[in-house]
Amino acid sequence: MSLKHVIVVGGGLAGLTSALHLSRFGIQVTLVEKNSYPRHKVCGEYLSNEVLPYLRSLGFDPFDFGAKKIEHFELSAVKGKAVKAKLPLGGFSLSRYTLDQAMFNQAITNGVHFVEDAVLDIKFKDDRFLLTLKETGNLEGTFVIGAFGKRSNLDQKLKRSFLDSKAPYLAVKEHYSVDYPEDLVGLYHFYGGYCGVSKIENNLVNICYIAQYDEFKKYKNIDDFKAKVICNNKALGAIFKNATSTFEKPLSISQISFASKPVTEDHILMCGDSAGMIHPLCGNGMSMAIQGAKMASELIVEYFEQGLLRSEVEDKYKAQWNKAFKLRIETGRFLARLFTMKSVALYVMNSLKSFPGLVRRIISMTHGKLIEGI
Ligand SMILES: Cc1cc2nc3c(=O)[nH]c(=O)nc-3n(C[C@H](O)[C@H](O)[C@H](O)COP(=O)(O)OP(=O)(O)OC[C@H]3O[C@@H](n4cnc5c(N)ncnc54)[C@H](O)[C@@H]3O)c2cc1C
Repeated sequence: MSLKHVIVVGGGLAGLTSALHLSRFGIQVTLVEKNSYPRHKVCGEYLSNEVLPYLRSLGFDPFDFGAKKIEHFELSAVKGKAVKAKLPLGGFSLSRYTLDQAMFNQAITNGVHFVEDAVLDIKFKDDRFLLTLKETGNLEGTFVIGAFGKRSNLDQKLKRSFLDSKAPYLAVKEHYSVDYPEDLVGLYHFYGGYCGVSKIENNLVNICYIAQYDEFKKYKNIDDFKAKVICNNKALGAIFKNATSTFEKPLSISQISFASKPVTEDHILMCGDSAGMIHPLCGNGMSMAIQGAKMASELIVEYFEQGLLRSEVEDKYKAQWNKAFKLRIETGRFLARLFTMKSVALYVMNSLKSFPGLVRRIISMTHGKLIEGI
């Protein structure tokens, strides 16, 4: 096995971006993903434009795959009061079904070696990584990028401390056939959570909500919760009234946590949700996954090409990651807490309505600047 071998564990946005970036620099990359492509994922599917120049420089343009350009943002309170704002940088919407598949295809074209399997264990010894896979034996590499998402079997194997924290949210998503403005991302608040709506490719609309599990479990099932809680927000009620799902059944995930995580763990460079998850209310976890992948990949390239030490790679990665994302994640946590307190949420919404400048300020605190291409 070549000495310049990087193993990327997890083929979501963080993993796919790392694979695309590293392969552009002639580095041998093996991407291990336990699921096949394409597949739907629970996600709001709105991406901030901050990543667009970088994605294009990697040879991937979301607009070639039907992405919708998003320029406006609407935030509505439970009672239906809405605040509208122009997004400072704007963004685009594309389903994860299409996005992940398209980036995966690009990675294969770049020569990335793909293994469809689950990684069971990662060990670091004598300056090399040894990975145990469920079906296909062992893999050995110089670096491992841990891009295995918000919660994985590997978190338990690595005894990651965030597993002891509460994971009190669940999320549900479906694609619908319904009228909705092309250039708008809507965030509609309901008691115990919020719902994101935006148009995606093929004239479909993605509707994805996140709710506190304690609120959700008071109801019989997803339909009951939707009818009695979500549709209490008049704007959401009106959308759902005319919406027809294109899914056989809703896609859901639970045990979502926004607890802090170490950015490196046993020399593994964690990327995307494995490194830390921002509350989806801020709508830019995917951009952070992509930007984090860029940081890790650039440092690995420096290691191979300019003799950076492994310890320097890790220290620089931690420092860059925290500088770029720590405040955003904390702001996201704070906002999420505000919105779970019913009376406070109403007060916040009224304040935002009276002071639209505040909305722009919050958007800029939870988003970054344009990320340069390679
Ligand atoms: C309800 C909700 C709404 C959201 N809305 C938005 C939004 O509108 N905009 C936005 O920017 N962000 C949003 N996010 C956040 C965004 O979805 C994530 O930040 C992003 O998907 C992180 O990408 P990732 O590559 O880290 O993880 P993922 O995309 O989850 O990829 C991780 C991959 O690792 C694989 N894997 C796990 N364990 C193993 C293993 N042992 N071996 C092999 N493979 C493994 C998994 O199968 C998976 O494919 C939302 C999140 C939620 C929960």
